[in-house]
Amino acid sequence: MLINQTEIKSYAIKVIKKYNLSYPLDIHGFVSTLGFEVRFVDTGKCDAYTIIVNGQKLMLLNQQIESQSRINFTLAHELGHYFIPEHMEPIYACNIDELEPGNRTVNKKEEKEADLFASELLLPSRFIEKKSIRRLQDIISVAQTYNISIPAVAIRMMEYSYDNVAFVCCKNNKIEWYATSLGFKEHLILKDLNRLSIPELSLMNKCIENNSTISKGKIPAYVWLENMDSSSYIEEEALYYSKYKTGYILISADDLGSIQYLV
Ligand SMILES: [Zn+2]
Repeated sequence: MLINQTEIKSYAIKVIKKYNLSYPLDIHGFVSTLGFEVRFVDTGKCDAYTIIVNGQKLMLLNQQIESQSRINFTLAHELGHYFIPEHMEPIYACNIDELEPGNRTVNKKEEKEADLFASELLLPSRFIEKKSIRRLQDIISVAQTYNISIPAVAIRMMEYSYDNVAFVCCKNNKIEWYATSLGFKEHLILKDLNRLSIPELSLMNKCIENNSTISKGKIPAYVWLENMDSSSYIEEEALYYSKYKTGYILISADDLGSIQYLV
């Protein structure tokens, strides 16, 4: 099930040009300009439906979706079914994955394509291609500007960044997933700690213990990276939302000169 990412992104870029869209995108306004009626209803197990019958255009969104960034992504996903030429069905029942467009989900091809379309429509690649990632705030400010979730922006920015950074998402004191930058992939290997407890020396534990929001400092490189000796250090920045038991970690190994590899 291969998805032509370039082609799907090009559909979003065509739409942006054709409708002369400005950013941050008013997705609600755009959807209604196109003649869609949007209703929030009980959609059962689905996140949303798009129904186009007899010229009538309807989007049904799950009324349990609360966050504005999630609603925006859902609307943009539904527009994917409207604009991607191969998507010809009159009804799409959608399960949306904001975090893994084109990646490892079990979702159907059309769903992944609509996810990919949505992420490009809401945050065109050209806005993030040249942005550097030095600290978490670099990711957060993009998320706030475009009203997209922090993890979704982190994944997108990692796809282009040559800074040696990795983004780790933690939930309930465990590591949920991580994304590494292009630069990081070239030089370093992150330990595979998926689904495991947060490493003891990670500053995230400090945040959780002290119920503090943010913690930043140097920690031994071997905490996160493979093949490091004990005299190498990396920067770690941890951000914790106790209400959601969710934390984000930015690992920065940009001072590569100071890192001693084990050979
Ligand atoms: Zn869909």
